[in-house]
Amino acid sequence: MTLLDSFKTRRPAGHSFVSVPDLPELRACFDGELFGPDSPGYEAIRRPANAVYREVRPRLVAACRSVPDVVRVMTYAKATGDRIALRGGGHCFAGRSSTDGIVLDLSGLDGLSVGDDQVATIQAGARLGQVYGALHAYGRTLPAGCGSTVGITGLTLGGGIGLLGRKHGLTCDRLVGAQVVLASGSVVDCDHDHEPDLFWALRGAGGGQFGVVTSLRFDTVPEPLTTRIEAHWPTAAVAELAAAWQAWAPDAPDELTVNLTLESEPGAPVQATLFGAAGFGEGPTRELLREFTGQAGVSPAMELRTGLPYHQLKHTVTGLDPLEPPERALRIRSEFFSRAMSGHTLVSLLTQLGEPRTTGRRQLTFTAMGGAYNRVAEAATAFAHRSERFLLEHIAGPADPWVDRSWATAHADGSGRVYPNFPDPALGNWAAAYHAANYPRLAAVKNAYDRHRFFDFHQAI
Ligand SMILES: Cc1cc2nc3c(=O)[nH]c(=O)nc-3n(C[C@H](O)[C@H](O)[C@H](O)COP(=O)(O)OP(=O)(O)OC[C@H]3O[C@@H](n4cnc5c(N)ncnc54)[C@H](O)[C@@H]3O)c2cc1C
Repeated sequence: MTLLDSFKTRRPAGHSFVSVPDLPELRACFDGELFGPDSPGYEAIRRPANAVYREVRPRLVAACRSVPDVVRVMTYAKATGDRIALRGGGHCFAGRSSTDGIVLDLSGLDGLSVGDDQVATIQAGARLGQVYGALHAYGRTLPAGCGSTVGITGLTLGGGIGLLGRKHGLTCDRLVGAQVVLASGSVVDCDHDHEPDLFWALRGAGGGQFGVVTSLRFDTVPEPLTTRIEAHWPTAAVAELAAAWQAWAPDAPDELTVNLTLESEPGAPVQATLFGAAGFGEGPTRELLREFTGQAGVSPAMELRTGLPYHQLKHTVTGLDPLEPPERALRIRSEFFSRAMSGHTLVSLLTQLGEPRTTGRRQLTFTAMGGAYNRVAEAATAFAHRSERFLLEHIAGPADPWVDRSWATAHADGSGRVYPNFPDPALGNWAAAYHAANYPRLAAVKNAYDRHRFFDFHQAI
């Protein structure tokens, strides 16, 4: 299937369509709300958060309020033959939560509770900002991502990288169970002992592949007090800085995550920003950072804010991320690296990043891996990337050819692995890139749970 096919209304021939039920029939028993192109509110609800896919117009948006609603929409879609796209936060970089068929919107199912065992049950439509805020009331949190409007389900199903990840692992590493509506319409609970293959596949293969997740159960961690780190190098020796970061950040203590962003505005020199969090107070944090700045041979303007509960630190990130709404339309390509890139590659990357032009901001973001991410075996969960040192993103406007050139330059030294939560429609060998040696088992799970490919899109398992 091609990317274009993903947005077409009907599933390919070969599906047996039963008699088409009436929309009024569905409406009569629906707990949530149904929006067609003529409904008030349609224009607002049809648009995903990702600005690139804002013009895709679904025939129907089903804003579910209950698990039976999910089953009803699936039964309806099976009967009509409409393609179905599952949506939580609506951020998918490849537009997989948009279709001109039926959008099954779970954002209204967003409750959260925490039991005496500190296990949080979170309904599938909750966003990260809500999750951090609600868990804070229990003194708990999750190692999860930065975007406050990102959906917990999309994030978890593809892995979940964040500022606590080097200490506690991926978001999906804390998952202990999930409720899923299967393509057959049956509702199952899965965990290590029940439907273990499905539970394995939900941890890191990417969203929308095996069923509609309606709730997730997580083993939460105590909410730490953190030190927020932000440092800027307006005119530094950027190549030295990026080389020193690659040698240092992936091996820093687990409690310290610092990511590096190199940004270029037309007509201005490349700017470097270090952003991160430490589970230490000011003194030890400064000491650790001195190690790095010493290697880089530069002293930055450094701002540390200590004693921040993790959810407050997350608030301070809002507005810094170029992907946060109100979003510019952006294109992102990325790859993991299991070793530092060569000096030659780095210099070429930086030259391309800062090349003279009249429009368009460009950004390279280096995210530190290592730590707890890499203390899980590759086959233990569907997330296969457990030996990587860092992730590199190339971000710019959708028409900027720099994204492809920059990606190709870095790819010479990359591991060939790509994060399933950063899907890249341009990838050639996507099965190996996203899933590596876990692909055959994932294909078997797909065959067992969705043989007729009710859930399908470009690059689906
Ligand atoms: C501002 C911003 C910040 C980000 N920060 C981070 C970060 O710090 N760390 C990180 O790891 N990633 C980060 N990401 C990437 C993010 O993890 C992915 O974009 C993620 O897939 C978004 O999930 P969503 O629910 O918001 O999007 P959606 O587009 O709604 O969903 C993503 C995928 O999951 C599927 N899906 C959604 N709901 C369900 C469901 N209930 N059952 C089954 N499948 C479902 C969708 O069909 C789609 O394929 C960020 C993205 C943005 C835009």
